Amino acid sequence: AKAGGKARYEVFDTSMRDRVVALFQLETDLRRAIDNQELHLHYQPIVSLVNQKIVGFEALVRWQHPQRGAISPAEFIPIAEETGLIVPIGWWVLQQACLQMQLWQAQFAMNVPFKISVNFSAPQFTQPQVGKQIIQILQATGLDAKSLQLELTESVLMEHPEAIAALMEELNALGVSLALDDFGTGYSSLSYLQRFPINILKLDRSFVCRIGKCYQSWEIVRATIMLARALDMEVVAEGIETLEQLARLRGLKCKFGQGYYFSQPVDSTAAGELLAQQFDR
Ligand code: C2E
Ligand code: CA
Ligand code: CA
Ligand code: CA
Repeated sequence: AKAGGKARYEVFDTSMRDRVVALFQLETDLRRAIDNQELHLHYQPIVSLVNQKIVGFEALVRWQHPQRGAISPAEFIPIAEETGLIVPIGWWVLQQACLQMQLWQAQFAMNVPFKISVNFSAPQFTQPQVGKQIIQILQATGLDAKSLQLELTESVLMEHPEAIAALMEELNALGVSLALDDFGTGYSSLSYLQRFPINILKLDRSFVCRIGKCYQSWEIVRATIMLARALDMEVVAEGIETLEQLARLRGLKCKFGQGYYFSQPVDSTAAGELLAQQFDR
């Protein structure tokens, strides 16, 4: 029995080592990804649930690895966050997204407030001079602060609440909108909504996907929408995949959403075509 135990231990040990080596290799490759131009952005429409028109895009980073092909952000963003690589990657994403939005605004007659929404991780927000750097990117790309929205998760708010609150106030004063991502997951504390200048709640996909199947999910969505309305915030429902989900959200007067029902995240060319259908050139 002892020998069997030892053998099992060695098998575990080897697979652990393989995993560590694979992770280290991925980190090494990710370090070079920006310079090698292996990263690019996809854009997913955020739509008005009232008339199904596009009101903005969420920028989502993609990594085309030279050997391994497309690697999901769900796999490499956590590594980037742990290693600090998210800082240079995040600045690249922000700069690229702002530039693209500015180009679209110059190309199309967007007669409505139209926004680019960019995900921002905790290590990015705790950099010194982060406010200045955001302003600098807006100036360099020529994008109006009112066209930029940043998506933060609760983990960002938990790390340095005072410093982050001050920074969020500064960004809000400039006209940048702030969205709380994955709302309802994690350690949601409603006190956040009072302490931080949050403009938008992004209702997590896990509630949206069960909205027609489970009474509790429907109630949570309903309560969130009412809470947001009372606090003068907007709600964006994530991950709408079916007409039934859309109908239920509309029934609850949810105003905005995104999801495969409308469009998957698409490359900049396809996103430009969606804009061409909606706006005059
Ligand atoms: P997220 O911020 O919650 O982004 C939404 C994710 O849901 C995206 O996955 C999107 O493709 C996916 N999605 C959208 N609609 C649907 C739908 O109807 N059904 C389903 N099943 N999924 C849908 P993606 O692009 O793989 O990104 C995963 C996560 O990686 C993001 O989750 C975000 O946390 C992170 N991420 C992506 N890009 C960036 C970035 O530039 N910076 C940072 N910090 N994180 C990023
Ligand atoms: Ca997001
Ligand atoms: Ca989510
Ligand atoms: Ca997220």
